[in-house]
Amino acid sequence: MSTKAESSSTSMAQHSRDHLQKSHLNPSCEFCNNLFNSVNELNVHKLYECDKITEWCALKDFGCSTLVIRAQKWEHYKTEQHQAAIMTFIRHAASKYPNNSYNRGSTMDVDIPSHTTMSSFDSITMQLQEACQTLDILSDGVSTLNEDRERLNRESNFINNRIESLTSDFARLKLSIEEKMTCLDELKRNQEILDQEIASSKQKMDDMQNVSYDGTLFWKITNVSSKMGEIFI
Ligand SMILES: [Zn+2]
Ligand SMILES: [Zn+2]
Ligand SMILES: [Zn+2]
Repeated sequence: MSTKAESSSTSMAQHSRDHLQKSHLNPSCEFCNNLFNSVNELNVHKLYECDKITEWCALKDFGCSTLVIRAQKWEHYKTEQHQAAIMTFIRHAASKYPNNSYNRGSTMDVDIPSHTTMSSFDSITMQLQEACQTLDILSDGVSTLNEDRERLNRESNFINNRIESLTSDFARLKLSIEEKMTCLDELKRNQEILDQEIASSKQKMDDMQNVSYDGTLFWKITNVSSKMGEIFI
């Protein structure tokens, strides 16, 4: 009798397996549209492989009603919303087992001596409170870190701006130095020309001083040989 029932249920299972394999040939994943050879393969894919599959956050009932892409769940766990939901969950769990639940303890489980039940509840409550405090500290830490990150972002922006303005200042300075260098070169050339003109003027003055002004035609010529040389060479 029982063997018959078993065999009939086996054949039912066999039948539905056949049905699944025949009628659902090449099932596709509704999240990533990949095709599979069998429902089994699809199930394995959905369980372990699909990186498009979305799931409701496990803390949906505690304020984190988000559809999370499974491959990105670790990023989701870091979000402020999810951490707030963790806090809500812990507070909720802790309020279920408050410190002064000695009377309720005895109604919970008759097999276990009420003394043990109470102390285990106490220890759970204490652990939850500790966890709660730890989470408070951690969430403080997270917000401090977030503030630090924002501050560092601002500072790095400021430094970047400073670097940019210093770079353009430097380029301007370089340009003006180059301009001053060409200006100096020009001045140097002008100086040389002036020096030459002064020298030639001085020579003319010297020559003029050798002329007498008293009406007598008296010429004093210096450096005759070199001047003659200049003319005749
Ligand atoms: Zn079907
Ligand atoms: Zn998929
Ligand atoms: Zn969440």
